[in-house]
Amino acid sequence: MDIQFLGAAGTVTGSCYLFRVGKAKFLLECGQIQGSRVAEAQNREPLPIQMQEIDAIVLSHAHIDHSGRLPWLKRQGYDGPIYTHHASHALCEIMLRDAAYLNEKDAEWENRKRQRKGLPNIEPLYTQDDAAAVMDQFTGIEYEERREILPGVEIRLTDAGHILGAAIVELWLTEDNTTKKVVFSGDLGHRGAPVMIGPAPVEQADLVIMESTYGNRNHRSTEATLEELRSVFEAARANRGNVIIPAFAVGRTQDLIYLLEKHYDDWHIGDWQVFLDSPMAIQATEVYSQFDHLYSAKLFGERSHRPTLKNLAMSRSAADSMAINRMQSGAIVIAGSGMCSGGRVMHHLKHNVWRPECHLVIVGYQAYGTIGRQLVDGRSHIKLWGELIKVNAQIHTVGGLSAHADQTGLLDWYRHFQGSPPVYLIHGERPQQTALRQALHSEFAAEVTIPEREDRIQLN
Ligand SMILES: [Zn+2]
Ligand SMILES: [Zn+2]
Repeated sequence: MDIQFLGAAGTVTGSCYLFRVGKAKFLLECGQIQGSRVAEAQNREPLPIQMQEIDAIVLSHAHIDHSGRLPWLKRQGYDGPIYTHHASHALCEIMLRDAAYLNEKDAEWENRKRQRKGLPNIEPLYTQDDAAAVMDQFTGIEYEERREILPGVEIRLTDAGHILGAAIVELWLTEDNTTKKVVFSGDLGHRGAPVMIGPAPVEQADLVIMESTYGNRNHRSTEATLEELRSVFEAARANRGNVIIPAFAVGRTQDLIYLLEKHYDDWHIGDWQVFLDSPMAIQATEVYSQFDHLYSAKLFGERSHRPTLKNLAMSRSAADSMAINRMQSGAIVIAGSGMCSGGRVMHHLKHNVWRPECHLVIVGYQAYGTIGRQLVDGRSHIKLWGELIKVNAQIHTVGGLSAHADQTGLLDWYRHFQGSPPVYLIHGERPQQTALRQALHSEFAAEVTIPEREDRIQLN
């Protein structure tokens, strides 16, 4: 039996691992590569296996860097089952459709350029129809339910505490009467995050495949993060402006709604009108309400299934969204996309970012090349729809709301394993991986490998 690393090896996105156990072959994750155009072109490269040969797919959670190529596999002819937690199944419905829409828009934009050059059109990576079709192949499972998915392959999902439904995947792989236990961390949550419970400990493994996104640093403390947010709302109230928060639809948005409710009095949230201005985030919040037994934070009313934050308005239509632009002050607007690379937040930037009384709160990672990154980097102007706009609003970067474990969190999770099993580090950039390898080695004398893409390791 062996494992081949097909993605997120030396990088964060595009998670994909191919397992061969006896006659069975299955994929763990099939994520989209995100980043530069050159990197994203790799999403179209064929896998080193025929679609008919893949017997099953196991998915740790709904984020696109883990699930995003499933509709593409469908398009290539993959017809087998996809096992994941029920909540991830529900979130994938929303997220894959949105990713498909973006892929269609990307192809449209690319084709307009190609037509002007006299080049033939390209197809989108996949369409909304592909995304809808692949959903029929999902089988939802519960946490802690051990299940045989193929001859010689048993899996169990355990709470990773990262986003709703996110799982650590335990795998028991049997070939020639020998069983090896592999534990795949998935994306591990941050202990102390507002809504999700931290990652569950696992004690036994012959081999650990572990994420390393923040392998080289620790997050700011929760208390410091809350103090930062409190002071932003206080300043914005004194300045009589609006507060714009670009947020990711799944996870960060629900964290913010929860924090605004929890600190309603001490942050004077009652003086504001709060808007959730993102159809995708509204849908994701509805999925959170259906699975409220998976976290301890109280986000929703007992029977209403509406968020308990009473002055929260859900802006579903474009007209709802545009109405917010008439507000000169008193609005807290949570809108996507999280990196200001599109979506309704662009309109709110246009109406607020040139006004010194307004505040912009950045709560997530901003990739190079995005408007969000330009704002964090302190650019004096940004360009929106060809128009140069002066940045006068106050920009705050609040780093403590990460959905990922930091170095201490990663080490704490590994600490539960008996006998320091060997580790393969994935889902991280080289500097983060090297630092985490060093830390795992010096604290546990663990044997740590940083695999390259395409590397194939034997298990027996
Ligand atoms: Zn994730
Ligand atoms: Zn990830």
